[in-house]
Amino acid sequence: MELNSRQEKILKIVKQHGPITGSKIAEQLSLTRATLRPDLAILTMSGYLDARPRVGYFYTGKEPAEVLTNKIRNILVRDVQSLPIVIKEDTSIYEAIVKMFLEDVGTLYAIDEDKDLVGVISRKDLLKGTMGKNDIERAPVSIIMTRRPHITTCYPNDLLIYAANQLIEKQIDSIPVIDKDADKDIVIGRITKTNITKVFVNLME
Ligand code: ADP
Repeated sequence: MELNSRQEKILKIVKQHGPITGSKIAEQLSLTRATLRPDLAILTMSGYLDARPRVGYFYTGKEPAEVLTNKIRNILVRDVQSLPIVIKEDTSIYEAIVKMFLEDVGTLYAIDEDKDLVGVISRKDLLKGTMGKNDIERAPVSIIMTRRPHITTCYPNDLLIYAANQLIEKQIDSIPVIDKDADKDIVIGRITKTNITKVFVNLME
């Protein structure tokens, strides 16, 4: 449910001056009490405001579930994406492990000489890389990474809920965010389970 501008104004007044009577709110808006009645009813019914006889309206501090749902639905990837950590595809497995520790990330993205995304390297990919007979100081990450066309990507203007669904469906920890305007797949961000957990915490606070 979207609030109209008058309802928004009422909410602001009650947040600042509540508990406040309907007549006082009407006074501040230079309107009659009768004009405000439907707006006050909507705000009370939807849970934003509560009213006590002889005391007036006060702000409940609660966000109705619908408001919260709408907020979540409108969050875009670009609102929460973090910086990607990229390496060249010929980087050694050893160097990639060092990079992962230094940058404190769980996933690295591999690019070719044109900066085009060519691979994703997770912690378990690197573990696997160290378990075989590879000389990890020489063997490049390209032998263990997940490659195109198997990489799940998203764009900055995608809904965050879409990216979150992809993380669950594909059972992965992160998704590279790609610049939609470039003719190559240039990685400009990443969406991780941590990003999404932060959003969840922020919404609840
Ligand atoms: P880990 O393997 O450390 O648990 P993930 O669950 O992210 O981390 O990775 C699981 C597998 O999926 C790995 O082989 C990794 O290369 C691959 N992977 C990770 N992210 C993506 C992605 N965005 N698109 C495609 N494959 C991915």
